Amino acid sequence: MKLRLPQALAVKILAEARAAGGRECCGLILGSLDGETAVAAALHPARNLAPASDRFEIAPEDHFSALRAARGSGQAVIGCYHSHPNGVARPSAHDLEGAGEENFLWLIATPGGELAAFVYRGGSMLGADWVTSSS
Ligand SMILES: [Zn+2]
Repeated sequence: MKLRLPQALAVKILAEARAAGGRECCGLILGSLDGETAVAAALHPARNLAPASDRFEIAPEDHFSALRAARGSGQAVIGCYHSHPNGVARPSAHDLEGAGEENFLWLIATPGGELAAFVYRGGSMLGADWVTSSS
């Protein structure tokens, strides 16, 4: 799986990761799937309800509003993003536990400016290539 991510969205995710400080930021990614290429079109930031600082739990009403926004623009919720304040841009054991939707994209950012993409497939998180685009 390959992800086309507009530069502006990558910058926005990294800015949210920095702004969240010692906590995880989180949100959903709207876009479309074209075979093995996912095209991100917009971000839908969400509130993190997790009490622990090394977890995230997207507020259900924010998830619903993302689904509504996607439907309204002819898109789908193709993935999620969150940050790891500990600086490691890899899925945690807890992330893997929380994953369930096949071919769902997972973007992980660090406050230090790292950004990595994964796709949940067949029970594991596989690294996904991502390229930035100008639109
Ligand atoms: Zn995580």
